[in-house]
This record gives sequence, structure tokens and C-alpha cells, in this order.
Amino acid sequence: SLHVEILSTGDELLTGQIVDTNSAWLMDRLWDLGVMVRRKTLVGDDRQDLAAALAETTARAEVVVMSGGLGPTEDDLTAECVAAAMGVPLELDEASLAAIRARFEKLGRTMTPNNAKQARFPRGATILPNQLGTAPGFRVALGRAELFCLPGVPVEYRGLCDEAVLPRLAARAGAVPAARLVKLIGVPESHADQAMRPVMDAPEHRGVRFGYRAHWPEIHVKWSVPGPDAEAHAERILGEVRRIFGDAIFAEGKDDLAPVVVARLAARGETLALAESCTGGLVAELVTSVPGASDVFPLGVVTYANAAKTALLGVGADLLAAHGAVSEPVARAMAEGARDRAGTTWAAALTGIAGPGGGTPEKPVGTVHLAIAGPTGTQTWARRFPGDRDRVRKTSAYDVLNQLRL
Ligand code: ATP
Ligand code: MG
Repeated sequence: SLHVEILSTGDELLTGQIVDTNSAWLMDRLWDLGVMVRRKTLVGDDRQDLAAALAETTARAEVVVMSGGLGPTEDDLTAECVAAAMGVPLELDEASLAAIRARFEKLGRTMTPNNAKQARFPRGATILPNQLGTAPGFRVALGRAELFCLPGVPVEYRGLCDEAVLPRLAARAGAVPAARLVKLIGVPESHADQAMRPVMDAPEHRGVRFGYRAHWPEIHVKWSVPGPDAEAHAERILGEVRRIFGDAIFAEGKDDLAPVVVARLAARGETLALAESCTGGLVAELVTSVPGASDVFPLGVVTYANAAKTALLGVGADLLAAHGAVSEPVARAMAEGARDRAGTTWAAALTGIAGPGGGTPEKPVGTVHLAIAGPTGTQTWARRFPGDRDRVRKTSAYDVLNQLRL
């Protein structure tokens, strides 16, 4: 299959300031095309290192996708180094210069002389206009490779990949395999792996590529099927995966959990209120990150102190004294209080001990009580989540969203 390599540049990628998310994003997209990236190289803003990396990658690969170093400053070396590797000069592209100038005018900013640098490309390069930023990308032939040079800013990188890189790679890679993705929640990683084994090892699925990723607290399972019967084959596997995981599948495709919950509520004309303690608004944050959440979500409160639970949700002081804030009766009272006050179809409540302090032998760190009050009564459940404060909070938030989905 097509030999693709990635070359990411920038000092900030080597100092730990920035994680190279560009390449992970591209690898995921290429996986859908049946293309597996063979190597990734990371280099800083250094002429010698860049020259060596360009020579090595373009000697091996048929396609190299490079990101970063197209900016206007001194340390942006990509165009210069590529031109040197090709043995050609940099040349000003008038159309790109005009586009950069127009962009600055539109934004009401003055163009500095170094921005003109972004309109200089190795002679013979195909320029890839950038609608989302000032620096265009470009494509050249170097070594045995077709080399794409793209801006490092992720939104620009992705835009140019979608426009100029992926269609070309799809054409070069040949027949696109049939790809499917399902997302699971509430399934322990080891269990998911074990459950998938028979499918992955089945002789009839030889040649199918399975990808399996713990994207905590979600698990993503994907497969890509090459060959003539690919679509039907991919669907057959989907049937098997559905039988194995059932309700634990919250999305077939790229959807996230919160959008699934919001869509389901909206489809039924239902509404949701939230009463959060240990999650401090995390559930509300997930819900409101979905466009259109306002149709289903009128109210969420963070009642962290006992007094707030009483004042805002009507949780009885006697109840709090008798059972403690982290208890089934309090979770229930929070949910019912929120539902009554907001007048919603549903209300969900969470109260727990996220740690690191606050645990007791009866209620260790990770103890969380959850409740959902609905039209036919209130459902409560208790969990003991492993992990640190972050993990307990996030798992709790996803757990309640998952119950709202079911
Ligand atoms: P600019 O015009 O902004 O200078 P550039 O093409 O020169 O663009 P860089 O300077 O390398 O790109 O990176 C710009 C910013 O984009 C970085 O500060 C960083 O935040 C982000 N970035 C760069 N490379 C990556 C990467 N591989 N993954 C994720 N983010 C990146
Ligand atoms: Mg830069």
C-alpha cells in the first residue's frame, strides 16, 4: 500500500509545550482510506535537522506530509529548507501576496514586511491556498516523494488536508476500503478486548483491519474492509459487534456521547435539569457544548455545600445530617428537587467523593451516588470509581450521561 510518512516540525513540539495533534488527526483520516502511516518524524526549527529529515523521509516514502514552519518569523524555515533540498530558489508568488494583503485588510490589521515571506515558495511548487490563515501550503516533488508542506496551526492544517491532501492521497491509494466505527461506554477495556477476539480472529474476517482504542471513558472499535464485497462485509461485522455489545454502543460513527443524549431528548420533546456536586458542572459543560442544547437544557446547578443543597434544591437538613451528603437519599432528593424546581421531564444528580481527601472506610474516595428523577419515579445507583480526582469526576459525568441515553 501507499508509503506515507509524516514530518512534524517546531521547537514547541520537542519541549513538551505542544502535543503533535496534527499527525494523530491525519493518521485517523488516513486509516479510513486504508492507508497506514509508516513513520513519523519530529524535528525542531533547525536547518540541519530539517535538511536531514527532508532527505531521509523523501528518499523512503511516496508521500510526505509536513507541518509547521510556514509562519513569517525567522524560525520558520520550511520553504527555505525545501527549496535548498530541491536545489531551486524561493520565488515570490504575486497571487499569494495579494491574498495575504487582502486578508490583512479585511481583518483591519497592518501587514508587516515579514508576512510577505509567506508568499515565497520553492520554484516549481504547487501552491495550496489557505482560506483559514495567512500562510498557504505547497506541494513539490522531492526525492521519490510527493511532499506536502502545511501550516502548523491545527485548524489550517486540517482545512488544507481536507482540501488538498486527502483527495489526492485517496486517488493514489486506490480503492477506498469500507470503514466502520462504533463507540462503547461502560465496558471495561479488558472485557471489550476479550469480547472482540472471536470476531477479530475469525477466518472469514482475514484481511480486515481492526483498530481498537481506549479513549477513556469510551472505547472505540473500528474496522476497515478491503476488496470487492467490502460494504456488505463491513455491515456483517457491525451486526456481530452489535450482538456482542448491545446497549453499550452509544454511537455508530463519530458522534460523541453528549450530542447523542441531547438529540434523543430533543427527538422526544423532553427536557433535562442537572444538580451537580462532585462534578462541579462537568455534566452541564458536556451538555452545553452541544449546539442546540438550549432546546432541552434549561437549568443546571452546582450545589457543593450542604447549605446550598438545602437552599437551592430543598434537600432536607435532617436528611443530610442522617445520611451525609454522599448518599442515596441525598442524590435522590437533589434530583427530585431539581426536577420540581426546573419543571423538566428529567433531572439528574451526582454527589460523591472525588478525593484525594474526604474518604472514610464506609465511603472511600471514588464513592459516587447518582440519581435520575423522571416522569415515572426516581432511579438511583451507587458507584465506586477508581482513579484520581479528575478520573472520578469525569467517569461520574459520563456515567450519568450514559444512563440518560438509555
Ligand atoms: P504560524 O504562521 O502560526 O507561525 P506555522 O506554519 O509556522 O504557522 P508553527 O509556527 O510551526 O506553524 O505552529 C503554529 C502553532 O500551531 C504552534 O504554536 C502550535 O500551537 C500549533 N502547532 C504547530 N504544529 C502543531 C502540531 N504538529 N500539532 C498541533 N499543533 C501544532
Ligand atoms: Mg511559526
